Amino acid sequence: MSNVGFVCPECGHRAQEAGTCPTCQDEALLDCTRPDVLQLLMEMDQRRRDRLEGWTRIGSVLLGIVLAILLVIVFPPISGLLPLPRFMNVVLLMVGVGGGCYFLLTRLIRVRPRFPWVEDVVAGGPS
Ligand SMILES: [Zn+2]
Repeated sequence: MSNVGFVCPECGHRAQEAGTCPTCQDEALLDCTRPDVLQLLMEMDQRRRDRLEGWTRIGSVLLGIVLAILLVIVFPPISGLLPLPRFMNVVLLMVGVGGGCYFLLTRLIRVRPRFPWVEDVVAGGPS
């Protein structure tokens, strides 16, 4: 890949010449022949993935707590499922439901990388 040109760090718009992004006002296009720019673009995508991962983790914990409490309200015998104190059964239920939510959410929600072509350019080495 030799024609990587320039890219807008905000929206991912690519152009062959330097200048500003036509969509994002006053956003300067970055030169993709520079290795530090490619590194920056990869880090930006990684940060977006990390941010989603954090929100997914928080959401799963909250969903686990709420759904486990609802389960105990709707079906009280579930809190006596294991030969443990009732409180421990509820906590284990929260952990299990939260883990299940995390598993599902990480498979259903994914961040579409803004610069999917950067890794190919970096892997291809300087051209
Ligand atoms: Zn833009």
